[in-house]
Amino acid sequence: MNRMQWEAAIHRLWQMEERLPEGSFDRLALEQARKAAQSKIPAKVRYGGGAWRCPECNESLRPGRNYCGNCGQKLEWPNEV
Ligand SMILES: [Zn+2]
Repeated sequence: MNRMQWEAAIHRLWQMEERLPEGSFDRLALEQARKAAQSKIPAKVRYGGGAWRCPECNESLRPGRNYCGNCGQKLEWPNEV
């Protein structure tokens, strides 16, 4: 799927999630599926505390990695790194 399709799928999962009772297992399962889908869309790394960090979980990252080793988020690096 391309980025637009992933974004549409994430939105759809979120809508389905909203209809389920808070605390139900089905809602938890959909939430995890949505988070897994979100991690496929590259998110910009950020610099803080002397290291590059994952925008999702704040883990420090070695420059050039495509995915966060801690949470699996796909990463986007600035060109100059
Ligand atoms: Zn992470």
